[in-house]
Amino acid sequence: MKEIFPNYYEKFKCIADKCKHSCCIGWEIDIDEDTMDLYNSLDGEFAEKIRASIKGEVPHFVLKEGERCPFLNKSGLCDIILKYGDGAISDICYLHPRFSNFYEDFAETGLGLCCEEAARIILTEQEKFNIPLPSEAENVEFFKERADVFDILQNRDTTVLKRFEALAEKYHFRFEFSNEELYDFYMSLERLDEPWEDQLEKLKGAEGVSVFERQDLQIFFEQLACYFVFRHFERGIGFALLSCWVLGAICSDCKNFEQMLDVVRMYSSEIEYSEDNTEKVSAFLM
Ligand code: SF4
Repeated sequence: MKEIFPNYYEKFKCIADKCKHSCCIGWEIDIDEDTMDLYNSLDGEFAEKIRASIKGEVPHFVLKEGERCPFLNKSGLCDIILKYGDGAISDICYLHPRFSNFYEDFAETGLGLCCEEAARIILTEQEKFNIPLPSEAENVEFFKERADVFDILQNRDTTVLKRFEALAEKYHFRFEFSNEELYDFYMSLERLDEPWEDQLEKLKGAEGVSVFERQDLQIFFEQLACYFVFRHFERGIGFALLSCWVLGAICSDCKNFEQMLDVVRMYSSEIEYSEDNTEKVSAFLM
């Protein structure tokens, strides 16, 4: 199947030991069938260690102290890759932080914001988001409508706030929320990490979103919105609008750009990697 990628895709390379929030910590790592077959076929002490670290009906690595993958070494590198190469790791490890949306004749594959390096690449990209659709898809209503949404979001003659408002108006959604209301809503969702709750606390007592008007953050929010539309357009645009608002509200309290990237990374981990949360956020504006 043909696979297509956004313009920034090739810039991504895992920063491994330099990563502050490694995906080898805190996530359950399932072993796919082919990789399990490979591990079962290997001989030697290290292969024994791999097999002894796998448990469960859906085979997965049993995490060690601090929820670390047992093969993440002290230098932040993967011992399985060091020993056997990256062909020996599970699909989930090999593909992360990539995601794919499958259509009739092709798949779109992007980078997920739950990875700090992917988030940096996506949200600092100066070139407008772009993905080279196959010619047969250009006249499909779904992609035509999505292209119109991208046009609104990428209208750099006006502020991102005005673009978001224009988009909300087109789809008859509101784009004005009480941050207290959003605090209650997001606290009602499934939560994974305590630091995310600390971020949500910032919504309490906060009014509006001041950062949408900041000149230096126009690209950041444009790319953020385009990413959400790209990843979740099948669910409508409610996910993108609500997510941009709540991230804008929390980022209004951030001291610097690094903190903002971190908030976005957490949001992606908490919301986009829980089917239940993604559905509830998508439905909020309906
Ligand atoms: S989160 Fe991203 S940069 Fe960090 S270890 Fe995982 S893939 Fe690499």
